[in-house]
Amino acid sequence: MVKSIDELIALIKDRGYIDVEKVRKAYSYAERLHEGQKRVSGEPYIIHPLAVAEIVLELQLDTDSICAAFLHDTIEDCSDKISLQEIRKEFGSDVAEIVDGITKLVHINFENKEEEQAENLRKMFLAMSKDLRVIFVKLADRLHNMRTLNFKKTEKQRSIALETMHVYAPLAHRLGIQRIKYELEDLSLKYLDPIGYDEVKMDIERRYGENKGFLESAQKTVEQNLKAYNIKFTLTGRVKSIFSIYKKMYSQAKSFDEIYDFYAMRIIVDNELDCYTALGTIHEAFKSIPQRFKDYISTPKPNMYRSLHTTVIGREGIPFEVQIRTWEMHTVAEFGLAAHWKYKTGESAKPDIDDKLYWIRTMLETEKNTDDPDELIKPLKIDLFEDEIFVFTPHSDIINLPVGATPIDFAYAIHSAVGNKMVGAKVNGNIVPIDSKLENGQIVEILNSSSSKGPSRDWLNIVKTSEARNKIRQFFKKEKRSENIVVGKLEVDRELKRYGRSFTEAQKQEVVKSVAARLGLNDADDLYNNIGYGGMSVSKVSLKLKDELDRVVNPQNPDAVAQSKLEKAPKASKLGSDSQSVILDSVDNCEVKYAKCCNPIPGDTIIGFITKGHGVSIHKYECENVRLGLNNPDQSGRWVVASWNERVTQSPQQKGGNYDAVISVFADYTQTILADITLALAEMNVAVSAITIRKNGDACIVEVAIKCSNIDHMRSIMQGLHKIKKIKDVVRGSVL
Ligand code: MN
Repeated sequence: MVKSIDELIALIKDRGYIDVEKVRKAYSYAERLHEGQKRVSGEPYIIHPLAVAEIVLELQLDTDSICAAFLHDTIEDCSDKISLQEIRKEFGSDVAEIVDGITKLVHINFENKEEEQAENLRKMFLAMSKDLRVIFVKLADRLHNMRTLNFKKTEKQRSIALETMHVYAPLAHRLGIQRIKYELEDLSLKYLDPIGYDEVKMDIERRYGENKGFLESAQKTVEQNLKAYNIKFTLTGRVKSIFSIYKKMYSQAKSFDEIYDFYAMRIIVDNELDCYTALGTIHEAFKSIPQRFKDYISTPKPNMYRSLHTTVIGREGIPFEVQIRTWEMHTVAEFGLAAHWKYKTGESAKPDIDDKLYWIRTMLETEKNTDDPDELIKPLKIDLFEDEIFVFTPHSDIINLPVGATPIDFAYAIHSAVGNKMVGAKVNGNIVPIDSKLENGQIVEILNSSSSKGPSRDWLNIVKTSEARNKIRQFFKKEKRSENIVVGKLEVDRELKRYGRSFTEAQKQEVVKSVAARLGLNDADDLYNNIGYGGMSVSKVSLKLKDELDRVVNPQNPDAVAQSKLEKAPKASKLGSDSQSVILDSVDNCEVKYAKCCNPIPGDTIIGFITKGHGVSIHKYECENVRLGLNNPDQSGRWVVASWNERVTQSPQQKGGNYDAVISVFADYTQTILADITLALAEMNVAVSAITIRKNGDACIVEVAIKCSNIDHMRSIMQGLHKIKKIKDVVRGSVL
């Protein structure tokens, strides 16, 4: 381990691709920023970034990775002294992005994860790091922390070791950094099962302790023999890690003396014949253990693994295993048959995560001898999960969703009951609109209310996952059949009206019945129900409706039909009064009022209710009272189709704002919040008729009654309020 920056620079000297000046500068920044801070061990803090930089250097990474290694803890620990912008200015955007990526990972808590969750966590890790250098530096960071874990408290040691075993070691494995993988596993084991670790370690020392240099000398002998036979080969050797032996002993119930591959060599040659020739040279030079010889080339394993395995006795009676294979067999052994197949055919349809990493590893290996460091880094800048994100529940379970998913999708991914009772959502502790887009690593909390009457039909247009969409539809299908029928009926009526034909109720029933039959449904109500809950869109049945309408209603005068088609809703406009804002179906010249429960405004989908002696009251289609009313048999026949008379509602006289409306504002509470809201409304020329505030901890809900002219006006008012920084969400209607 290097003790100073000068020692580190000495190691860099012969690596032309590293910018020594920049590395020095990053070091002096880190040294200044961490000045006065100490590690738990009592050493000055800078020891840690220096050690991380050294590991990063050993991984053959570039200048920016080394700089990021020096600066990796500065945003987290010295935020009062440096900002990400400053790092970007001084060291460029790559360094800033790596440091930022590492800082974000710090806030992810993954202690004590189940195996299934651990896999999600590893994926989240990769998803959050759009540049794999983030993970490399993070692994170096973790490795140094593991090496110095003895200074931490016992329970902390255990949870960090567990996390390392479940998350970091498998990541190192996936990225092909075996050396770090083995060291992380060994160090984790040391804290997870100290007794087992010591036993294996003592066994190794007892048996191989004094044999330093054994593997190297055995390798040399093998090399000389292979060369003597003119075989082209690649030879690698390894000493089995403590954890691998531990695993083998426990999972296969073996004693230490039954482990023959503590030392192992792998010889990779060009063809099958060379495999056997190589085997011959090995058996010539060393005494073999006959029962340990396996010819998986003539008899492959069920998973198509092929290789020759032999165990021979080396100097001083030490056994070691030799595996001999061709490059083709090697690909299958390392990456499985599927990878091999793709490798052969060049096929790359929808590669999964390990396939992608495999390609990166291959690229990194083959492009090692490039002079251009940028070429080396390019494959590392990759978005492994272009269409997926990973977010946390408040209990830090991980939920995997498609990019663009909203809190509603999240709620339904947990359980349909959670989605159906949802009234709002928090992200990282702050209230957000339920249609906001979630991002990697966020903690999402769903606000439920037992008084919630279920999802809104609008959600069907907001959600991103088909799971959520199906669950919402299921809700409507199951819970609201009679309501769905009324809703479906209204939509079908509207659709039929578009064709501008007059027909009797009996004719209409016949049309709908035939369409239902053509769709394989039982009866008209089934069709209405399907349309009502959103299982079938009315536009999908539109042509069939027209078809049946043409069949059932004989056009007495084709010209009149053509003529009436030119007008939008000729029948309705005849029934409605010219001066009224609302056109009513089947009711003539009737007084119209706007229901206070939902305050409809032009642009809303509406429905009318014939009151006893007070004219027709107009509700929003989604109004809860409409849902209840439509389900109430006593009110049947009193609900009427209504639509806005655009000639009136779009007239200049109505532009000022004639309609009552209520908006609810969710905000961080401040003393000036009411003033901020009323000022913003005044600037937009919006008349306010009432305002109510309810404080709830640091947050508050403000309900404002206003006048507005139509739905576009409403939208612009809501957007205007959204611009106020403290305001988290603006919704229409009352929530208090
Ligand atoms: Mn660190």
